[in-house]
Amino acid sequence: MRYGILGDIHANPSALDAVLSSLAREGVDRLFSVGDIVGYGAAPSECVRRILEAGVTAVAGNHDLAAVDRIPVEGFHPSAREAMLWTRRSLDARSADYLSRLPLLVEEGPVTVAHGSIDRPEAFDYIQSAPDAQASLARLQTRIGFVGHSHVPVSYLCREGDPVRLWYTFDPEISLSGCSKALVNVGSIGQPRDGDPRAAYALYDDVADKVWIRRVPYDVEGEVGRILRAGLPPALGERLRLGT
Ligand code: ZN
Repeated sequence: MRYGILGDIHANPSALDAVLSSLAREGVDRLFSVGDIVGYGAAPSECVRRILEAGVTAVAGNHDLAAVDRIPVEGFHPSAREAMLWTRRSLDARSADYLSRLPLLVEEGPVTVAHGSIDRPEAFDYIQSAPDAQASLARLQTRIGFVGHSHVPVSYLCREGDPVRLWYTFDPEISLSGCSKALVNVGSIGQPRDGDPRAAYALYDDVADKVWIRRVPYDVEGEVGRILRAGLPPALGERLRLGT
């Protein structure tokens, strides 16, 4: 089976369309989303509609739950908070209903999907160190786990016969041969933060036993214009140009 795993979309339909086209060319059997479909960007309901139409199985991100008032906005940075209040006003009823029903964790076949961490998906922790990754890998019941949240792609690998050490890599092509478990942050489709403005997603092939982090260019200026026309903070458009 070939799996496509969509990183944080953040209401950016131009980036999402570019990724869905790329995945169609790859010929995937199954699509997952690590959540944060909405927030920051100017087209939240459009992105939910595309996720539904594409048959994507999604988990809830913190922005998805904030959009339906299940997480308070007080903990958000000022521009994120302003965008979230705008999102709450603009989200259509069908999208709000969909977001309010998302699970925190999905396990299917060899794949587990969560937004922040696998050991405490409800806490929306960031995995930023090997001990953070170890906690998720200890909880992982399948061969491979996919997360997002930090918007920076990175993979943590447990080698067979080596339970003590944990390997990590920023490589865009990861062989799982010789690995007992892996945890992959797939990066972000709609708001990359690793200095590369192209949309990021992961492709997993369980026969080839490999994961690839793909990057796809999209119409960044079109999304910057949409953010400005919506009256959202201009800095949210500027960071799309920079990939930060
Ligand atoms: Zn996010």
